[in-house]
Amino acid sequence: MKKPTSKVPLTSKLYCAIFGHRYEVSKKVTYHVKEYTCKCCKRQLTTNSNGRLTELTPKFKEINSILEKIYTRRMMHLQQKSFNSSIYQLKNSA
Ligand SMILES: [Zn+2]
Repeated sequence: MKKPTSKVPLTSKLYCAIFGHRYEVSKKVTYHVKEYTCKCCKRQLTTNSNGRLTELTPKFKEINSILEKIYTRRMMHLQQKSFNSSIYQLKNSA
């Protein structure tokens, strides 16, 4: 069993420097805002308020967690609404 290491090998960094980062979505914050992690060097990016990608700093992590809370609350509210209306339709059609 190998222990997971947080240390990124220099070869990965070199690979990214030459071929570019290989980002994949690590977290979906809202419909528009996502967090990305490079598969290679573990560098993290996020979408900022301008819709551009920027380094995922602790400050952006904080903003994203707040955004996520607002977003999930709104989505739950919307789902509840559509759920209620579908019950209403069922009642009406019966
Ligand atoms: Zn990278």
